[in-house]
Amino acid sequence: MLSQKRNNPAADFIIVGQGLAGSVLALSLIKEGYSVSVINQPHLSSSSRIAAGIWNPIVFKRLTKSWLADDLIPELISFYEYWEKEFGISFINHRHIIKPFTEEQEKNLWLKKSHDPESENVFLDPVIYEDLQIDEHYTVKQYSKVLQAGNLDVSLFLDRTKNYFKENQNYLEEEFDFDHLKINENDIIYKELTAKNIIFCEGHLVSNNPYFNWVPMKPAKGETITIHSTKLKLKENIFNKGFFILPLGNDFFKIGATYEWNELNDVPTEKGKLELIKKLNSIITSPYKIISHEAGVRPAVTDRRPVVGKHPDIKNMYVFNGLGTKAVMLAPYFAKQLVNSIKYNLAIDVEVDPTRFIKKV
Ligand SMILES: Cc1cc2nc3c(=O)[nH]c(=O)nc-3n(C[C@H](O)[C@H](O)[C@H](O)COP(=O)(O)OP(=O)(O)OC[C@H]3O[C@@H](n4cnc5c(N)ncnc54)[C@H](O)[C@@H]3O)c2cc1C
Repeated sequence: MLSQKRNNPAADFIIVGQGLAGSVLALSLIKEGYSVSVINQPHLSSSSRIAAGIWNPIVFKRLTKSWLADDLIPELISFYEYWEKEFGISFINHRHIIKPFTEEQEKNLWLKKSHDPESENVFLDPVIYEDLQIDEHYTVKQYSKVLQAGNLDVSLFLDRTKNYFKENQNYLEEEFDFDHLKINENDIIYKELTAKNIIFCEGHLVSNNPYFNWVPMKPAKGETITIHSTKLKLKENIFNKGFFILPLGNDFFKIGATYEWNELNDVPTEKGKLELIKKLNSIITSPYKIISHEAGVRPAVTDRRPVVGKHPDIKNMYVFNGLGTKAVMLAPYFAKQLVNSIKYNLAIDVEVDPTRFIKKV
């Protein structure tokens, strides 16, 4: 297994936050030969921990490819499969997303889009299928499938990644205290740690970061429930009908997710739970048991693009954030871009450059 180069106590990078962003970025740096020290207080934000981890290359509203899907999908598969091999465990599941059609119009749009040679949309299955039994009383009459989709078991990935950092003595579990940060011309000092650079990956809590609190976040709280049902027939594929049912195995299913832009905390609410139960009950009538109910805050930005790159004034300080609703897909591709910009001075996509917000004022 790859081990980190640590000939001296100074790391190349301090990474603050070990959600999906910090984990994927740290592993991407390590793979390129850099050393990292990760500082994380896991109880401040649960977004990654509770995420369903689904990747979906389609925007359902218009049945178009989601932004950069052709590039993101191969990169995400290569990244997670590489680390599955390194860690000797499996955390990604390749699945289809079942899209039921309730109206002829929906089906016709699907047929049009999936057969349109100009859009080259390899993610829409052009076949219309019939009669998929979801539970005893509900059979989907007509449906099709989103191809090349799937899900990452995010919690498992984060646990294994954290252990890997711990094995290499590069993990510090504490809240980052900005009063202890010293930025010099050629290094960064944080308490006992010295590093050449620092990268902030705090999710929506970047709003508390005095160096990046000008990034215009528009976070969205989301809730999920996990149920147990021996009657639900979905075993492999994800079901989506304005909400998702994700099979977790052994008759457990994750149901989600809600969107709420005001109460930005990780506290599950009765309102969120009822909304999910209502959606679920609109299609299944067989009994199920609610096992857990969770909430988190998606770190989305006003223009709904990630925020990846250097601080406008401090040359050894970076941010990796704004992964919004598509973190599993976006993180490997943009972590690679950031690493390539550091290692080979290659340009980062202007759409994700943090200074896009500075230029506007
Ligand atoms: C209900 C729900 C469902 C979702 N489903 C999906 C999905 O299916 N697919 C998908 O791709 N995305 C999904 N997402 C979005 C995805 O979870 C997020 O975009 C992603 O997890 C954000 O990762 P992050 O690392 O940027 O932030 P976070 O997950 O918030 O991680 C930040 C980490 O930094 C720590 N931290 C923060 N500040 C400090 C500090 N000062 N000191 C130390 N540590 C600190 C936090 O505690 C946390 O551990 C979902 C989100 C929600 C809420």
